[in-house]
Amino acid sequence: MSITIDPQQDTTPRRLGIPRVSSPEPRRVADGLPKTVSADLGVPTIHRTVTDYANFDHGATTPALVAVADAAQQVQRRYGSVHRGAGYASRVTTGWFEAARAEVGEFVAARPGDEVVFTRNTTDALRLLAHCLPADTQVFAWESAHHAALLPWPADRTTRLPVPASAAHAVQLLEAALRRSGAQHALVVVTGACNVTGEIWPVTELAAVARRFGARTVLDAAQYAPHVSIDLAALDIDWVAFSGHKLYAPYGAGVLAGRSDWLDAAEPYLPAGGATARVAHDHTRWQTGPARHEGGTPNAVGAIAIAASCATLRSHRATVEAHEAHLYARLHGGLAATDGVRIVQVLGDRPNVGVVTFTIDGYDPSLVSQVLADEHAIAVRDGRFCAHLLCDAVVGADATAVRASLGLATTGEHVDRLVAAVRQLVEHGPSLSYVHTDEGWSAPADPRDVSEPLPW
Ligand code: PLP
Repeated sequence: MSITIDPQQDTTPRRLGIPRVSSPEPRRVADGLPKTVSADLGVPTIHRTVTDYANFDHGATTPALVAVADAAQQVQRRYGSVHRGAGYASRVTTGWFEAARAEVGEFVAARPGDEVVFTRNTTDALRLLAHCLPADTQVFAWESAHHAALLPWPADRTTRLPVPASAAHAVQLLEAALRRSGAQHALVVVTGACNVTGEIWPVTELAAVARRFGARTVLDAAQYAPHVSIDLAALDIDWVAFSGHKLYAPYGAGVLAGRSDWLDAAEPYLPAGGATARVAHDHTRWQTGPARHEGGTPNAVGAIAIAASCATLRSHRATVEAHEAHLYARLHGGLAATDGVRIVQVLGDRPNVGVVTFTIDGYDPSLVSQVLADEHAIAVRDGRFCAHLLCDAVVGADATAVRASLGLATTGEHVDRLVAAVRQLVEHGPSLSYVHTDEGWSAPADPRDVSEPLPW
């Protein structure tokens, strides 16, 4: 087949199947909840049953949406190099990659002049911003932050604010610290939703305080973006960072979006092909814009998958919020009413993205998660959630807890099963005996072979 291209016509990209890169059309709002690819996953239990997998580990990693898996598969069938080739597949992929950038921009309501940089994940996005900090910038972060948001900043220019007791206390702590410091240039690291408790932080109030003192803000939206819509202008936040693998897209791609000035003034994060405008014997001229920090061949499939997820979530936001609010109330209510269960809280009475972290009197949290997995096909996470200082403050020194985090793969039956399983454990203990070794807890009588054939 031959394609005739008229270089004068601006319809060329459309005829080549290359989507336009500016402001995507608003998507049709579909009815119902977006489905995940794992909706029919059955897993073996210790009781020799195959049971519908109850995924309460969305806070760690979400399953892909069907719409995302479809988009990724479509890309894989015909991808080519990005911004590097004249071939048809290259041009199509480049168009999709840039359209993905625009879609993510819409997802966070980016302002004119904001940039969307594709990174590996939230950790990488925040590290990129740390790399771009102007030399004299003071950083303010709460000790309750995830390590990815607490640790990338220069230690000698970072003020750690204590774990607050309430949303109002968080605001007061920031205000006092900014007033004391008198810093000319400052960055405040704001957590959108706490990865341990799911509590939504008072983002707008904190951004307003930061602005009053001339400080900039970055929103760690790793736990926030999958559940709450983001509007950079309305929140008055300078940058936002989040991960594809927590947003129903595959591993390996994330986003830093926001103001371009610090990013364009910094040395390239990955000095390499793609980031260069001109390399000469005695100097290198670098690109500005996202390309400056996206050296090397980008993860186009990951970026396009994130965009597919953003588009899907954007068009189903109200349904997603209603689903999660309903399940959260049922989960929180059920666990709170169970004897011996203690729910971890930091800020107190706050809206929540669907996380309940708890301990059970007399039980090691890692035994609790093993029993839930082995006996009830329920996936939760236990540990200190990469937030050691927060856990020290609200769970106990070196103590761990169990986190149940819900999302689009969670159903009402899953919630009821989790609550019933916790009650059964509290009242009767595990149904088999478990032993603890270096590998963790296991039941010697477990009849399952949990190895699966290699997927390649
Ligand atoms: N920030 C928060 C609040 C998180 O929960 C996480 C991961 O759990 C991160 C940052 C780091 O995300 P990633 O591991 O995708 O880089």
